[in-house]
Amino acid sequence: MTAPMALARPSPNALWEMDRRHSLHPWTNFGPFEREGSLVISRGEGCYLWDAEGRQYLDAVGGLWCTNIGLGRKEMAQAIAEQAERLAFSNTFVDVTNDPSARLALRLAELAPGDLNRVMFTTGGSTAVDTAVRTVAYYQTCMGRPEKTDIVARDYSYHGSTYLAQSVGKRPGDRVPEFRYKEEGIHHLSVPNPYRRPEGMSEAAFCDALVAEFEALIARVGADRIGGFIAEPIQASGGVIVPPEGYLRRIWEVCQRHDILFIADEVVTSFGRLGHWFASWDLFGVQPDMICTAKGLTSGYVPLGALILSDRMWEAMAADGSRWFTAGFTYSGHPVSCAAGLKNIDIMEREGLLAHADRVGGYFEARMAALADLPLIGDVRGRRLMLCVESVADKATKAVLPDEANESKRISNAAEAMGLLVRPMGHLNVMSPPLVITEAQVDFIAETLER
Ligand code: PLP
Repeated sequence: MTAPMALARPSPNALWEMDRRHSLHPWTNFGPFEREGSLVISRGEGCYLWDAEGRQYLDAVGGLWCTNIGLGRKEMAQAIAEQAERLAFSNTFVDVTNDPSARLALRLAELAPGDLNRVMFTTGGSTAVDTAVRTVAYYQTCMGRPEKTDIVARDYSYHGSTYLAQSVGKRPGDRVPEFRYKEEGIHHLSVPNPYRRPEGMSEAAFCDALVAEFEALIARVGADRIGGFIAEPIQASGGVIVPPEGYLRRIWEVCQRHDILFIADEVVTSFGRLGHWFASWDLFGVQPDMICTAKGLTSGYVPLGALILSDRMWEAMAADGSRWFTAGFTYSGHPVSCAAGLKNIDIMEREGLLAHADRVGGYFEARMAALADLPLIGDVRGRRLMLCVESVADKATKAVLPDEANESKRISNAAEAMGLLVRPMGHLNVMSPPLVITEAQVDFIAETLER
């Protein structure tokens, strides 16, 4: 217990101080956390943020891949306030529902590809993934295959921070020995990163090798044991990795041959980031059995995630008529979050934000591609509004920089001093700006990074 602090508008320094004494942040590095100050963000509008001292930044991070429609929208705030006034909360357990939850489920069913018509709302992306992974075992058991519960994922994937979601994901830096991860029944394939493919191998041969690796795993473990495969269509936090041409579709075909459920983790890639509601079908020609979404679903105004699953799965799980599906959360179908989700979709449709993201995203790709000519930039990659630059020690050999070089942190600190936020991650600087970004703002990002 500490003495209560006066609540009259604390200074930025006082806020830092409170934060240092009382907050445990996601992904805390204890040493620097206690030594260094951090940004105190106090206002946001469109693509811009202002810190507590009034400095303006163009937020090329987009919150955390999430502020898709841009911040500060009065009609979003109004929709949230009106719903909070009318019905701030009602649970959706068993057979209770509420107006925004029912309507948003219908909207998601309309927007999702194929027969993905059933929605379980969650509290965010991790809980959507967690629910999807558990649903694999549930479905396969209902199909008379109770042993078919293993999950296949990929190296460098990030699927969230619950015990199960983080066990399925595998970014090397996240695997600290202090935490224990579930290992039994979880397999990881190689990361499909064309930039880091074996020396001298064509991209097509690399793709063949990745598919062969999956087939070999199935042969070794047994198709009767592997129940599901999970993939981000473009790996986000693992390094904005766009897989080789045809890779996802071929992996999906392997899944279909072996009754392995395909889970598309579209927590980042949905809701316009790549110019489509969902990327799996529209961009990669894959019809998933389940899609996990969150982030852009409410553009970060309030927390919400969703697992969207197929009628086919539903019918198998419901066939017996007496089973319980014991998953879900107090805040599943939260009326305020769902009202925000509905308004978010309205705004995206009314303003044509998918087409805008596609167009301005193409310009963003072209502008950033030019950075590849700079001496320390090994790769510029990604699609549309999901891009990164990778710094290397040597462009010819692609030699990785030593961790101590802290190059991406150096770049992001320098950019921050020039009014631009880009996310440092390993040797990468990652960008996922709001979809409302303009070409002039893209120019500012490119010019600042170049400097
Ligand atoms: N899946 C992917 C692909 C993500 O990038 C993230 C978060 O960054 C998650 C899942 C977890 O989402 P949340 O942080 O909302 O739980």
